[in-house]
Amino acid sequence: GAGAFLDISTGTFFARRWERYEEALQDLRVLLPKEILVFGDGVPEQIESWVERHEICRTPVVPETWFDPAKARAVLERHFGTTTLKGFGLGPGDRLPVVAAALALSYARETQRSDLSHLHGFSLRQSGDRLVLDATTLANLEVFRALRSGSHGGTLLSVVDRTLTPPGGRLLREWLQRPLRTVKEIDARHDGVAELLADESRRRRIRERLASIGDPARLVSRAVLGSLAPREAAALRGALQVIPELFAELVGGRSEVLAQIAGVDPLTELAAELERVLTEAPPASVQHGGVIAAGVDAELDRVRSLARDSKKHLAAMEAAEREATGIGSLKIRYNKVFGYFLEVTKANQDSVPEHYIRKQTLVNAERYITPELKELEEQILSAEECQLALEAQFFESLRKQIVADGDRLVTLTRAVAALDVLANLAEIAARNDYRRPVVCAAGEAIEIEGGRHPVVERMGEEFVPNDTRLDADTGDIIVLTGPNMGGKSTYLRQVSLIVLLAQAGSFVPARAARIGVVDRIFTRVGASDDLSRGESTFMVEMIETANILHHASAESLVILDELGRGTATFDGLSLAWATVEYLHEKVGAKTLFATHYHELTELASLLPRVVNRTMAVKEWENRIVFLRRVVPGSADKSYGIHVARLAGLPMEVIERAAVILGNLESQNHDVTGTPKIARGGPSVGDSKQMTLFAPNEEVVISVLRELDLERLTPLAALNVLQTLKSRLTE
Ligand code: ADP
Ligand code: MG
Repeated sequence: GAGAFLDISTGTFFARRWERYEEALQDLRVLLPKEILVFGDGVPEQIESWVERHEICRTPVVPETWFDPAKARAVLERHFGTTTLKGFGLGPGDRLPVVAAALALSYARETQRSDLSHLHGFSLRQSGDRLVLDATTLANLEVFRALRSGSHGGTLLSVVDRTLTPPGGRLLREWLQRPLRTVKEIDARHDGVAELLADESRRRRIRERLASIGDPARLVSRAVLGSLAPREAAALRGALQVIPELFAELVGGRSEVLAQIAGVDPLTELAAELERVLTEAPPASVQHGGVIAAGVDAELDRVRSLARDSKKHLAAMEAAEREATGIGSLKIRYNKVFGYFLEVTKANQDSVPEHYIRKQTLVNAERYITPELKELEEQILSAEECQLALEAQFFESLRKQIVADGDRLVTLTRAVAALDVLANLAEIAARNDYRRPVVCAAGEAIEIEGGRHPVVERMGEEFVPNDTRLDADTGDIIVLTGPNMGGKSTYLRQVSLIVLLAQAGSFVPARAARIGVVDRIFTRVGASDDLSRGESTFMVEMIETANILHHASAESLVILDELGRGTATFDGLSLAWATVEYLHEKVGAKTLFATHYHELTELASLLPRVVNRTMAVKEWENRIVFLRRVVPGSADKSYGIHVARLAGLPMEVIERAAVILGNLESQNHDVTGTPKIARGGPSVGDSKQMTLFAPNEEVVISVLRELDLERLTPLAALNVLQTLKSRLTE
């Protein structure tokens, strides 16, 4: 299948080809469209139900009118003024993308009732040239949304976005959502960031100017749609005045991206025209005038001064009538119904002259007109009308010039956006001490020295940097064990975020990094219960794992956090084991696997490219100290019991637990051995006394009975809960 995506407010327009419906669904999840046009014969039910769940407006299209590829091609060619669509990446075989794009364009044109001439770019986006991050991965890595709150805070974006223009903000999102894959392109961005990082005062000057630019492309859209306000035209003038100064700052640099940006047409003619025509601070609407500057047009100047002088005449007439009638409180006033009139209070009625024509009686006053007043009114109104008509006319022609320059303005906005993002990344690198990564070919090692999690390190507490090495020679599958809260999940995400940032063009939170580019990042993170999706957690877990195993390549980075947790121990362990084997034998992807299955560490002795790492902890003065350091080896198995002891569990429970653990260890892989766990116990050993509960549940119940809640601190309570829970799942 194929689809086209169109956003008139930003001028974004592209098509995608899909091999499987999952790809379409993935695109929909990332793009979150407001409305979907459906054509062709039917849509897979999974997409239908997704669309329904997200309450997206769904408009079916009669296929006959749209399935003519030649017509569709013509629609696009006419719109873009081209004779071929090859430049947009659309070849003769791209029948469906062409039809989809033409359909989107025509539909938008019809419903928006405008010519959409500001939509000048289009592409067939292949996934091949970009690092693919599916919606699950973007969510798990909390790139744009935090998992817990669903909010914007605590996300990667919130840490790396100090852009100063709306288009810059949009472009940064795009860079993070679709990072690059070619070393050359990535290096080009890094060169730009490096240059802007090196000279702080220049960066400050650039960013000061960026702050006043706003969103020229959006103003173009407004001009095209005919809703541009005079005040917005002035905003465009302001932007165009600043841009040459901005580009002047880029002269003499070495970076190619910056030179390219500075080489974009700054539209000085349009700027000059806006300066000449608009008043200094035009109002929001053209309705009441005050938009077109003096000196633009002789006729406009004439009627304007007439209108102004007539008002002087009006004031003179009021003074004269007061004088003639002797009524000091007489006023000339205006309303929409009668126009101008003379108002005299009831008390002064006797002094009103004969020739006044009564128009209206109020409680305290009478209103009159005179022929002279009406004549003056005529002059004033026609001069004003004339002025407003002329102003509207000049503003309209200004609008047309903006529309005519629309393409160039959009290009200019893109250049400014790119500068904003590069300067932003330099600013972030300076503030957060990010370093330039060395980027190398796909398949080469990922080596990170002193890496940090970009979001967690901003949370205030001291962050412990860690090294990473994923490399086909020394091991590209890391099995990471360690206690709960040890820092496993953080470490996994940190590695992916560093790779993502590097390929997006950013510097990275590490002392040094070498990144062999990856084609996709996959993540499978436990405990993301999605009850709203109506699928069981374990089902979701397996669907996501299946997706990874089907689509990961030797050039992918795979993050598996606590796989197999959603099912029974032996089930989960077996699936996790088989998954690692498959990744090792069939896929060859760089993999980080955090697990509570201690047994998986045995894989390192069986498979050459699997290595074990653990999160270091230290027991110190009856406290557990998490060192947050990733070290070779695997976690101490009886660790949970240590924690339980420190948490103040009754000694009996601790000792009993140690015995049970010993039993378990002696028959780790005995699937049928469940009852033997309790061997050597006082009561449950006798099968006649077996209760409804499994032995480990017995333990939990007895612990709960013993617990002295009055004396338990919240932290200790949590630890106890943790221990009990893990007893039940082990
Ligand atoms: P795990 O997955 O092993 O249970 P997490 O990755 O969730 O552990 O980490 C637990 C907490 O430890 C996090 O909330 C984080 O604040 C802190 N943390 C993790 N890694 C580090 C680190 N390298 N330096 C400092 N604090 C860390
Ligand atoms: Mg974790």
